[in-house]
Amino acid sequence: MKEEVKGIPVKVALRCRPLLPRELEEGCQTCLSFVPGEPQVVVGSGEKCFTYDFVFDPSAEQEEVFNLAVAPLIKGIFQGYNATVLAYGQTGSGKTFSMGSAYTAAQENEPTVGVIPRVIQLLFTEMDKKVDFEFLLKVSYLEIYNEEILDLLSPSREKSSQINIREDPKEGIKIIGLTEKTVSLAMDTVSCLEQGNNCRTVASTAMNSQSSRSHAIFTISVEQRKKSDKNSTFRCKLHLVDLAGSERQKKTKAEGDRLKEGININRGLLCLGNVISALGDDKKGGFIPYRDSKLTRLLQDSLGGNSHTLMIACVSPADSNLEETVNTLRYADRARKIKNKPIVNIDPQTAELNQLKQQVQQLQVLLLQAHGGTLPVSINVEPSENLQSLMEKNHSLTEENEKLSRGLSEAAGQTAQMLERIILTEQANDKMSVKLEELKQHPACKLDLQKLIESLDDQELKENLEIIHSLQHVITQLSVSQDEAALCLASAADVPAEPSAAQVETSPNTSRSSEGFTTQHALRQAQMSKELLELNKALALKEALAKKITQNDSHLQPIQFQYQDNMKSLELEVASLQKEKEDLLFLLNSAKKDVNQAKLSERRRKRLQELEGQIIELKKKLNEQSKLLKLKESTEHTVSKLNQEIRLMKSQRVQLMRQMKEDAEKFRQWKQQKDKEVIQLKERDRKRQYELLKLEKDFQKQSNVLRRKTEEAAAANRRLRDALQKQREAADKRKESQSRGMEGTAARVKRDYASFEGL
Ligand code: ADP
Ligand code: MG
Repeated sequence: MKEEVKGIPVKVALRCRPLLPRELEEGCQTCLSFVPGEPQVVVGSGEKCFTYDFVFDPSAEQEEVFNLAVAPLIKGIFQGYNATVLAYGQTGSGKTFSMGSAYTAAQENEPTVGVIPRVIQLLFTEMDKKVDFEFLLKVSYLEIYNEEILDLLSPSREKSSQINIREDPKEGIKIIGLTEKTVSLAMDTVSCLEQGNNCRTVASTAMNSQSSRSHAIFTISVEQRKKSDKNSTFRCKLHLVDLAGSERQKKTKAEGDRLKEGININRGLLCLGNVISALGDDKKGGFIPYRDSKLTRLLQDSLGGNSHTLMIACVSPADSNLEETVNTLRYADRARKIKNKPIVNIDPQTAELNQLKQQVQQLQVLLLQAHGGTLPVSINVEPSENLQSLMEKNHSLTEENEKLSRGLSEAAGQTAQMLERIILTEQANDKMSVKLEELKQHPACKLDLQKLIESLDDQELKENLEIIHSLQHVITQLSVSQDEAALCLASAADVPAEPSAAQVETSPNTSRSSEGFTTQHALRQAQMSKELLELNKALALKEALAKKITQNDSHLQPIQFQYQDNMKSLELEVASLQKEKEDLLFLLNSAKKDVNQAKLSERRRKRLQELEGQIIELKKKLNEQSKLLKLKESTEHTVSKLNQEIRLMKSQRVQLMRQMKEDAEKFRQWKQQKDKEVIQLKERDRKRQYELLKLEKDFQKQSNVLRRKTEEAAAANRRLRDALQKQREAADKRKESQSRGMEGTAARVKRDYASFEGL
């Protein structure tokens, strides 16, 4: 996810170095002057005046240049913007000095330390201040020499091991195969710079001026992340570029390798210039030739792309360098017109994560709605009900699908059979037409019988001839209807392809094993019959073509013979004319000597001219005719080739047919087997059901018996209980009556006793 910011122009800092001791010795004069307090430089005695974002005169120290021009870019890094610093200028103008790309540890605390080591220091100081952030820094260092990318940090000596430039739609330009070192201390980073510089220096001692003949790019990638929010990753790049010398190569009178180097340096800088010009043009959306050189491709994001860019244009003040200095001033002026579009870089993974989070939220909302029965899709339908109906639908669809694919395979089988029949018929038809053709060519068919009949007197013969004539008629009619039949066959072969192909597409999802096999078979059959039909179509076309050519050819046949005859006679004629001409010439030559024969020779000359005219005419004719004959030959060749192809296609067709048949047969067998199994299974099932039923019945019976027995037992039990009850009751009664008897006696005794006492 990228957030666009308004266009920011490339900033240009002009830096003029002091005159070097060598230049002073040579008595060079300063050809530039500076306006105090203004970012302006004046060339010579005021002929030209240029204004830049910053102008540093020879007295400016490294620190001043860094603090004013470079440090703000480093601040941008922490807001997520890419940054680029480019040093441009002729050899010896102070690019390497300014960039500090010749840094060695011995220089450490010197005021002469250039941009790169200072950038590293500032980066680490700023990172230390940002305690609530985590950082991951990686550095790479490369050199473009002769349009080749050399890895200056490569652990092996081989610096150019397969380095490729790729353009990633999300991350921009990427260099594949380049060493990237992870660094966690300023010291480590500076030592990477030093290590790379050493790689450059080694090369430069071998070939003195080399270091200024390559472009060096030191890149620091910064990944930063808030400790509290793991998903807030920024990733940006800082390119620090020490370009090769911009001086014109024609001056150096280079040859061989030097020239090649020169051309390549020029290429890079020329492309850079073109890119700068194209970007400086006000026309929007114009073509920017980034791809013309490795340099411009690598800097694509720095120029007119996603970067805050500073160009340090380095110049020498010496009048001996005036031309190059003015060139640099102009180049830098163009660069100021570039408007970059820096954008905040968010890590693509973070962007994706954010997007996914949003999606999850949306889905959660939908889910909630669904549970509440307000899912926009299912209007007033309970989810479970919905599911039920869906399942039912699915089931019926599956069934339909199954039916369809069965139908399809049957249809395909039928199609195959039909096609086979058609092909067989076609073959028979072919044979017939050959026979018919032979018959038509028979001399009997060519006789003009009508005339013969009319001219005859013999009645019997006449009748016989009439019969033969009617036979002739039948033969002609036959050949007509034969053609029609062929047409019918061709169109019949066309019919079934479309529906089967269409059906195939309607049933692509069956996946259960047997259904799968059926569908596969159907698909295969449909595919094959489609192929067959296509083959048929192609074949019909080819045949039609061959027929047409042959027809044309047969028209040409008499002309051909005529031409062949003609040519022979023409050749003879030409030869005789040639002969006559030679004779005449001879006569003319010999007549030159004889004055008397002047008249005669005049006539001969005329004749000679005539002859020449005729010869030319004849030769022309000959030429035309032989061309025609050649044409004829080539058509014959084409026809024979066509016929060959037709034969091949026919055999392919037969093969395909056979394959289809085999396939259908296999399928039939498989189906039979399956059906048998199904029947067996069903049989077994039925048996089992029957047994089950029987068992159930037995069980029922037994349980009935048991129930009855239990009931009987219960009844017996009841009876027994009743009997016992009765017995008990009888016994009780008896006891009662006995005791009542006793009581009576006792009462009586009591009464008797009372009456006795009363006495
Ligand atoms: P370039 O890389 O453009 O070919 P250098 O950076 O190698 O040029 O500079 C050439 C010479 O000029 C070196 O000896 C360097 O020390 C000297 N030089 C360049 N710029 C300055 C400056 N601003 N102050 C003093 N010396 C400088
Ligand atoms: Mg240099």
